[in-house]
Amino acid sequence: MIQVDFEKNFMSWRENARKFLADAIPPDQINWSQDELSLFTFDASSQDVKKPVSNNDFKVPPELISQFKTLSYARDEDRWNLMYKILFRLCYENTGLLSISIDPDINKAEKLQKSVRHDIHKMHAFVRFKKSFVDENEVYVAWHKPEHLIVRPGTEFFARRFGDKRWSIFTPDESAHWDLKKITYGAGMAQRDFQGVDDWDEIWKTYYKSIFNPARIKIKMMKSEMSPKYWSSMPETSLIRDLVRDAPKALQKMAENINTSAVVDLKLSLSELKSKSSSCQACPLYAKATQTVFGVGPENASIMIVGEQPGDQEDRTGNPFVGPAGEILSQALIQAGIKKESVYITNAVKHFKWVPHKNMRLHQKPSGPEMHACKPWLEAEIKKIKPQVIIALGTTAATAIIGKLPKIKDERGKIISSLACAPKVIISWHPSALLRAGNETESTEKMQQLVDDLKLALSAEE
Ligand code: SF4
Repeated sequence: MIQVDFEKNFMSWRENARKFLADAIPPDQINWSQDELSLFTFDASSQDVKKPVSNNDFKVPPELISQFKTLSYARDEDRWNLMYKILFRLCYENTGLLSISIDPDINKAEKLQKSVRHDIHKMHAFVRFKKSFVDENEVYVAWHKPEHLIVRPGTEFFARRFGDKRWSIFTPDESAHWDLKKITYGAGMAQRDFQGVDDWDEIWKTYYKSIFNPARIKIKMMKSEMSPKYWSSMPETSLIRDLVRDAPKALQKMAENINTSAVVDLKLSLSELKSKSSSCQACPLYAKATQTVFGVGPENASIMIVGEQPGDQEDRTGNPFVGPAGEILSQALIQAGIKKESVYITNAVKHFKWVPHKNMRLHQKPSGPEMHACKPWLEAEIKKIKPQVIIALGTTAATAIIGKLPKIKDERGKIISSLACAPKVIISWHPSALLRAGNETESTEKMQQLVDDLKLALSAEE
């Protein structure tokens, strides 16, 4: 049995695994978990040397490397062995192993990766900084208890988000410290040793009150989303009881606001409009959505693409067309010879409308009043961008632009030049129509038509 002395990180594991794999050493002959170094007692030459199942040189698929990297952060002693086992089986037993999701090794690896990703997401959501001073320098410090060993992959986000402040995040396992240039890592710290309650708690409470949404109040869900195990390091949790008590009144107030539309000041610049839209409550859609998703793209774009509304991923990231439909749009733009960065991309409705279904958020079409309520934002974007061509994707966007419900298959592929909003308007399929297509032929045909309509827009803009 080989007892591997390695640094308990992905790179070190990878280096060792590569050698063992080249020598065809079976997983049950390697012990990755013992800390003590012992002699290399396994004699590979005495074994039946296995041959790779593939005739070509075995290459680890790039997606597997990134999955293993995630897996390496799992708090599971068996993870190194599991990773090697999968690698070995992939090389010497079955090159199609990764697609067998019911295989116990693949299944376990997928579950662990999912759990790690979820834990990183929780860290981003639940870390609460307190202002402190070190050598008269302002430093923000936080304590958090992750489920997995995610300090390194989890803290890069904070360097991007709060790159202009010095901060330190402590966990029981490890700590991360940002000095405005790079992150360094140090020893962990128990919560009882982490001192320094101050006004920062009050700031978090004020923020939490402002984002608290009575329409979404579900104690069970709150507990699963914001697990009580994190509450001790989150100052706003002391407010929950009061906010729950006042929720019915707040809901009533929300309901009274339904029949309004967004009030937009056209004197504002595009970026000011974007920032204003983030607090829009002109229709009830804001209540269940995470954030407003405003348009993106250059202010002098001559082509503007209008979709329906943000989807699940757009709602989480705050950007339009970044989910599966966004991928299709990107492909279609490439095929049409249009650079995505040169186009202004937005939606007719700026908040995600959805209903819960099992563990998912199912998209719902916005209603007429909701489209009406949101129209001032779209009109303001059009006024600021002044596009030569607007491409409206799908019925919701087309209705918002041309003012009546069109049949996409009849109206697409033509230039409409009689509208006040832009010199030329083209209607086409929304990329999600391709995802919903009943078969591949229909999907391919719609994709081709979408590409043709984008090409038409490109020629109309010139
Ligand atoms: S969907 Fe539009 S109108 Fe309704 S709240 Fe959101 S931004 Fe405002």
